[in-house]
Amino acid sequence: MFLKAFVLLLSSALTQKITERPLNTCRNQKVQCSFYGWSTSRCGLRTDIRPLRRDFMLVPCAPFGHDKYVAFFINIQRAIFMLIDAHCHLDHLGIAGAGEFLSHLSENNLEGVIVCGLNAHDWAFYADLAKQFPTLKFCCGLYPLELSEHWVQDLERMRAFLPQAVGIGEIGLDFHGIFDNAHIAQMKLQMKVFERQLRLAQLYDLPVVIHCRDAFFAIKEILQYTHFDLRKVMFHCFVENLEAARWVTDNGGLLSYSGVTTFKRFGHTHETAMATDLSHIVIETDSPYLTPAPFRGQQNFPTYVHYVAEKLAELKGIPFDECVRATTENTKRFFGF
Ligand SMILES: [Zn+2]
Repeated sequence: MFLKAFVLLLSSALTQKITERPLNTCRNQKVQCSFYGWSTSRCGLRTDIRPLRRDFMLVPCAPFGHDKYVAFFINIQRAIFMLIDAHCHLDHLGIAGAGEFLSHLSENNLEGVIVCGLNAHDWAFYADLAKQFPTLKFCCGLYPLELSEHWVQDLERMRAFLPQAVGIGEIGLDFHGIFDNAHIAQMKLQMKVFERQLRLAQLYDLPVVIHCRDAFFAIKEILQYTHFDLRKVMFHCFVENLEAARWVTDNGGLLSYSGVTTFKRFGHTHETAMATDLSHIVIETDSPYLTPAPFRGQQNFPTYVHYVAEKLAELKGIPFDECVRATTENTKRFFGF
């Protein structure tokens, strides 16, 4: 009697706890049941569990009556596949917040994150973090929308960080809302700085992460003009059309898909993702921006790269695990670690 009362009490607490969690977070973990009791809570089968800690699930148990559920205690043995967020930003968290996040990567099924510094301040921030956390790899770049009049000096300063960096980025062109006569000087400056950074990448033999918004035609032109090796190019948050996707991947480049694939207005992303061989695809969050469904309107986190992987697996009709394994390998190969 005492035991039954204890299980009932426990199960009501569990029901509360379990229903707060999102579903579908256990696909890449192996679980092992180590103990069970039974309860009268009607909450159905829930397998929403977190890795590397003890947790529970309730399973309907018909022989004891339709309202009876077995409460399983689960030991998570290990995560079989780990994700990498191929493009994100952590500077908004500050050094303590970013450090705290990086200390718990594996608990969140992340093997690593690639961050991109947008200016000289970011480069120093990420270089310091990378010394402490080997799971963080960083790229240095001058972002097209944050160019200052000191860009020449900034590029000189960038050289000091390049030996520790895994790439140059995010760099590129952003002509959104400025493709008119009034902004010719601004567009010319973006193109000049982009070209200079491509030259720097060639000099240091580093891959580049490209930001492209309403400017694919110009980026393609500059990549061709500089004879840049497309095998060292990753288009982050790829949203261009099928023709653009084919040009990039036929020349050996990578397309990085983001939370945009989960949006209602997903643009060309579904068509190009389905048509592109998995060997040319990586996944990213671009957090804190571009939060995927079902968290639209909230802040984005690198851990949500999971939802991008799920969407990509669905689009390509492949198992989640295969999608994670391939995109993780592609990211490592591209950045050379
Ligand atoms: Zn970004």
